[in-house]
Order: sequence, then C-alpha cells, then structure tokens
Amino acid sequence: MSQVTHRNATAGNTGDDMAKILADAEALCRAVAARDLEGVPLYLLRQSILPAECGSGDGCYGYTLASLDLYLCDHIPGYRGRGPCIVINDRALAEDFNGEDLTYRTQAIALHEFGHVLDRPAVYEDRPGVDSNKLKFEALIVAHVTAKPPREDILPYHGHEAGFIRVCLHLCHRAKLVGFDISPGAICAGYTYCLSVAQRYQTALGDEPARCMGMLFRDILATKPPAAFTELWTNDFFQYQQLSQPRKGK
Ligand SMILES: [Zn+2]
Repeated sequence: MSQVTHRNATAGNTGDDMAKILADAEALCRAVAARDLEGVPLYLLRQSILPAECGSGDGCYGYTLASLDLYLCDHIPGYRGRGPCIVINDRALAEDFNGEDLTYRTQAIALHEFGHVLDRPAVYEDRPGVDSNKLKFEALIVAHVTAKPPREDILPYHGHEAGFIRVCLHLCHRAKLVGFDISPGAICAGYTYCLSVAQRYQTALGDEPARCMGMLFRDILATKPPAAFTELWTNDFFQYQQLSQPRKGK
C-alpha cells in the first residue's frame, strides 16, 4: 500500500490524462517484468471508476492484494481472467500533484505496488472453487481498510521489508534501461518506513540488478542477496526494535 502523504494542490487533470499515465505505467510494468507477466493480464485500475461499495480508497495512493482482481472483476473494463490487479487512487494523486510531477508520482506509485505483486509467492493467488460469499466478505474488508489512514500500531516497515526493497531496486534498474529514470527513494525504504535511505540499500545490493537482468523475480528472490544488503537490513531492523522499546525504569 502506498500511503497518502498530503492533500493540497488543485485538481487540474482530466480522466484522459490519468488514463494515459496508467497505460504508460502498465507498459512500464510489462517492460521491466516481461517474463513474470507472460500470458497474464495486469489490471491498473483507477479508484474513481469504482462504485462506492468498493470504498473510497482515501487512505492510500494505491493498493494491491493477491486476490484483488477477483474482488473487482465486475468493475474491471475488459476483464479477461486472473491477473495481478493494482488500484491507483487517481483522485488523491490529481489533488496533490500536477503536470510532470503527477506523471512521475503516479508511475512511482504503480511501480511500488508492482513491487508488492512481484514480492508475493505468485503474482496472484490461485483460488479455484472459492466461495463467492467469502470473496464478497474479503472485498468488504478491503473497501473498509483502504478508506482509513494507515494503522499506527503496525510496524512502519511492515510489508516493505528486505525482499520488497530488493525487488524495487531491481525494478528501478530495469526501468532506467527502458527510459524511466526513477529514484529508488521514490518507491522504497527511507524515513517513511524507519529504514535507511534507499540509496544505501542500492549500494549494498551492488551489481546484482545488472547481473539478474531477464531473470524471473521469484528466481531472484530465491537466491541470497549480497551480505552487505542483508547486514544493512538486519541493522535497520534491530535499530528500530531498540528505539521503539520503552526505556526501562522511566
Ligand atoms: Zn506498499
């Protein structure tokens, strides 16, 4: 999930602008993970086209879940079977950003969410024969959760741990090669998650992204990352644990 950070700018963009940006974002996702998405549809959905029953999505700029396409299939234009689904809160983004900034931030949110897709055991969860009432119930929970601000009782880096950061750094490397130069800090790690800045993780990962071009993300994640990368994550993890402990005797 990508957290909403602020709301202020005036909305000056049309739905057509956002449709173009999301079409470009989908093309970018396909370009950087062509093999992972081979034969699989990818749905990038605008929050603004979803009915009220799907929630407002006000608590985030974007979200994805392993069964999200099943929850929203009745509202996905041209739904053509199972595939990863990402909802982009186009209203919130258009309120907060304009022009090139809107394009960059929307692509960054899409790439962040796509990082979650690739950080899963599979790009979507196969659920043959699942009860439709169970899906409706899960969809209601998603509508409720994504409308609320992020919970403060959850660890700030929850869901954005080492595996996710590693995926994002590979995505940034590949995105740059296809013409989208994005700073790793725009999509992972850093103070938002109480972690070291993304550039430090990038340095620790070294030439791994270059060496793993063309590999499936699940195969990359099945290998051990460089020791420096694991060490940085471990240090961040323990540092946060120590800082978040109440001081004894006070
Ligand atoms: Zn996230």
